Amino acid sequence: MEECISVFDMLKIGVGPSSSHTLGPWRAAERFLQELKENQTLELVNYIKVNLYGSLSLTGKGHATDLAVMLGLSGQDPEYIPVENIDKIINDINTQKVLHLGKQTTVPFFPEEDIIFNRNFLPFHANGLTFTVFLLDDTEYSSTFYSIGGGFVVKEERNNAKKKHKIKCAFPYPIQNAEELLNYCNTLNKSISEVVFENEKAMRTEEEIHNELMRIWNTMLECMYIGCHSEGILPGGLNVRRRAFDMHQNLIGELPYNSPQEWLEVIRKTEVKFRQILKWVSCFALAVNEVNASLGRVVTAPTNGSAGVIPAVLMYYMVIENHQAGEKEIKQFLMVAGEIGSIFKKGATISAAMGGCQAEIGVSSAMAAAALCEVMGGTPDQVQMAAEIAMEHHLGLTCDPIGGLVQIPCIERNTMGAIKAINAAELALETDAKNAKVPLDKVVNTMWKTAQDMNSKYKETSEGGLAVTVNMADC
Ligand code: SF4
Repeated sequence: MEECISVFDMLKIGVGPSSSHTLGPWRAAERFLQELKENQTLELVNYIKVNLYGSLSLTGKGHATDLAVMLGLSGQDPEYIPVENIDKIINDINTQKVLHLGKQTTVPFFPEEDIIFNRNFLPFHANGLTFTVFLLDDTEYSSTFYSIGGGFVVKEERNNAKKKHKIKCAFPYPIQNAEELLNYCNTLNKSISEVVFENEKAMRTEEEIHNELMRIWNTMLECMYIGCHSEGILPGGLNVRRRAFDMHQNLIGELPYNSPQEWLEVIRKTEVKFRQILKWVSCFALAVNEVNASLGRVVTAPTNGSAGVIPAVLMYYMVIENHQAGEKEIKQFLMVAGEIGSIFKKGATISAAMGGCQAEIGVSSAMAAAALCEVMGGTPDQVQMAAEIAMEHHLGLTCDPIGGLVQIPCIERNTMGAIKAINAAELALETDAKNAKVPLDKVVNTMWKTAQDMNSKYKETSEGGLAVTVNMADC
């Protein structure tokens, strides 16, 4: 079956800290509300309970899964909610002990009792959650969803139905793997971004594609800007100090600007010394992931935990590599990144609960490497090689967030993913990639096999690695 995944499925605007544990459960709650509306039972709800399973339960507190569920059930949209309203909405639920279901029906709600953290795993996927409503007529209705990474949510029966009745992809050039993508590039004599653009046109007008890609970029830029200008300690109890602020101050000095766009232009005019390049890239990545850790607005790329890599590498291209780069290159970059991410999603996973951090930082690094390689003039073979190199050197990377918070090692890890992406693109650009020894599909498959072999302690459960060797109380 050809799976039709748009660039806009891979790059989604949302709220931190986690795509699988925050955005996914939020979207699941919205879908459950929709089911109640379709069943005409929303007005009949007496009370509601939410059961979280597996990784959603084990790291759900640190990843704000409970808050996401409450916000989703309250009828809030993660893409558009003013993030400054989140604290008040949650505080009201906690103090008033009521939930305004879909902004339509008010029901009693005791978060500590009505959101149940079950340590056991459901068989279908590591991130399961079940919503159950008890109705005024003494009946009940429940629905189970799975958050499969990157904000994607499925129901088991829907997924099985899809397998039985093959759904035809609407794209003129359906792509299941890297080889198929390369074949299209070769036969059509097009770059990867040009093939992706043709596919996207099957779903949107050219103007819509332009506007959406620029909205994604502007959200990334604003996120980096906010992160570079926010001081203090991140929430959650680990006492992690925001570092992008100081790093940025040291780099930018006293230069004046009044908006994210002016800031970008000021940095572009700054003469960046060689030894400052890594600092700038790291600063951009830290900024995004500090915003993410404080429930700010980010672009899921392909997940929230790894949201800093792609903006940092695109920013590197604009402020270091090509000061003339504009909308054309930004769109090109995002389309290539999205397509490479979708190849990993189809052939492996982008869920840390399934594959550890190689599925998050590894995939984001591969996406960024490929995108950078194309805007720097790489051929489709070189672009795929860049993605392959970036993933090859993330294989086996475990997920072990301390305290279940998307902070240590997550925030710094984005700087590493960004820097490896730049190096991977440079290596690919210097290589005749026609006869690559390790084609991209092989590394996708290797990542999936590694994911299956990985002990569950290292798959977003906080039961292994740094999460157990570092005592949260000592932080
Ligand atoms: S360790 Fe990696 S995969 Fe795990 S939460 Fe952090 S960024 Fe995500």
